[in-house]
This record gives sequence, C-alpha cells and structure tokens, in this order.
Amino acid sequence: MVPITINRSNVLQWVWFGILEMVHLVLALFRGSFSREDEVTRVVEAKAEKGSPASVIEVMDAYATKRRFLMNVGVEKGALLRELMISSEAKNVLELGAYCGYSAVLMGESLKEQNGRLVSIEANPKNAARAERVVAHAGLAEHVEFRIGKGSERIPDLEGSAPFDLVFIDHWKDDYLPDLLALEELGLLAEGAVVVADNVGIFSNTLDDYLDYVRTDPRYVSSFHSLPMEYTQSIQDGVEVSFFKGASPQTAAA
Ligand code: SAM
Ligand code: MG
Repeated sequence: MVPITINRSNVLQWVWFGILEMVHLVLALFRGSFSREDEVTRVVEAKAEKGSPASVIEVMDAYATKRRFLMNVGVEKGALLRELMISSEAKNVLELGAYCGYSAVLMGESLKEQNGRLVSIEANPKNAARAERVVAHAGLAEHVEFRIGKGSERIPDLEGSAPFDLVFIDHWKDDYLPDLLALEELGLLAEGAVVVADNVGIFSNTLDDYLDYVRTDPRYVSSFHSLPMEYTQSIQDGVEVSFFKGASPQTAAA
C-alpha cells in the first residue's frame, strides 16, 4: 500500500487517476506489454534521437502522458529541478531513486555542460539496468554512475568522497529523513548544498518528520514549491527545496 495523502479535496482526482490506470493497463495487456518500465525503455531506444537528452525526455513524457503513468519527476517539477541545477552550478550531484533514468537524464544534461557527475542510488536492480540504458541512449553515460542498493546500504560507501552540491531525494518516502541524516553525518553535504525532495505534497503525511526537520533545523533554509503531480494537472503535489548552510546548529543560527 502506497501511503499517499488522500483527503476530501483530492479524493475524486485519485479515483479518476485509478480508473485511467485500469484502462491503460488493459490497453497495455492488449499490446502484450506487461511492464511499463520495460516498454518505455524500449520506446526510448526506438524513438528518441541518440545522444539527445531533450529527445529522451520528450519521448518519456509522451509515453507517460499517452500510454502509461510513470513515476518520473515529470514536466513541471522537472523544470524546477533543471532550474536549480543551473542556478546552483552543481557539479557533484547525488540522486536517491533512479527508476527509469528520467531525472538522471534531466540532471545529466546540465552536468555535461559543467563537466560534472551524478551518482544515482537505486534499490531495484532491474530499474538500475533500465536507467543505465536510458542514460546511455541520451549520451550521458560518462556523467552518471548507478549504484545498486538502498540508500542506507550505499550511502556509507560514499564516505570520504567529495561532498555533494545538490541531492535529489525521490525514493521510498520513509527513507528521506534517515538518508539525509546519514549524508550529514558522513559530511557528504557541501556548504550551500541544495537538497531537493520530490512528492512532499502527495506524501505529506508520511513525510511530516522530514519536512519538520528541514523547516526547523537552523542549518537549513527551506521552501515548499506547490506543483502538480507528474503527468496530472488535477492532483496537487510539491517539492521541498532546502539550502544547507553547513556548520553546527549553533554556528548556523548565529
Ligand atoms: N527519480 C526518478 C525520476 O524522477 O525519474 C523517479 C524515482 S521513483 C519515484 C523511486 C525509485 O526509488 C524506484 O525506482 C525504487 O526502486 C527506488 N527506491 C525505493 N526505495 C529505495 C531506497 N531505499 N534506496 C534507493 N532506491 C530506492
Ligand atoms: Mg517522485
């Protein structure tokens, strides 16, 4: 059971979303396609221009809009992520949750310009393999490295590496806070790092501990950006953007 926050104001939109999912599932079964993730990976390789991140993103957006829903960060929240990548001039980026590689391609595009790198941690080996194919098709393989395992398993391996300028958190919602704390503990957040947390609107109940932490700890300056959930206009979601000032709570407060 996915712990989505359903209330009076969005229940009808979620029911409609469920109906569309069922219709698209039946159509997919007629096409003989059981896994949307495998299908979109094949579609990217068949239709997107090789070496073009923009074309890969376009093909994935079209698939998620017209065929089957994908839990990519999507168009509106993706535009904010792209803007943050550019404005922060991030060169050393960490992602928690790769899925089929959409956000890795989106961030990889600016990392190519910056000659930077993305480390993407993905718990599901099948998803990591799909994401790797999608990123390779976009021509970004040399800027993106996938590590298979949960954040809690792979973050400790990063101890001693250069701190990250930007972290995109988009994996299992109960793991947002423990994994952020692990990054802090290991000194993996650069001073001024931008921490971008997806889906804090639709999972606001599950993420209340995370949101409370970044909104009250004096080392963070945090703001909520209300944006639609990926590939829907009617369900409201949001992204929490938190700037890590660094140092101890006492110094940051000074
Ligand atoms: N960031 C992707 C994008 O926008 O294209 C979407 C990521 S999807 C919402 C979440 C992914 O997190 C899934 O592929 C899932 O297998 C992975 N995942 C779930 N729990 C995880 C964990 N604890 N550590 C790493 N990955 C995890
Ligand atoms: Mg997400």
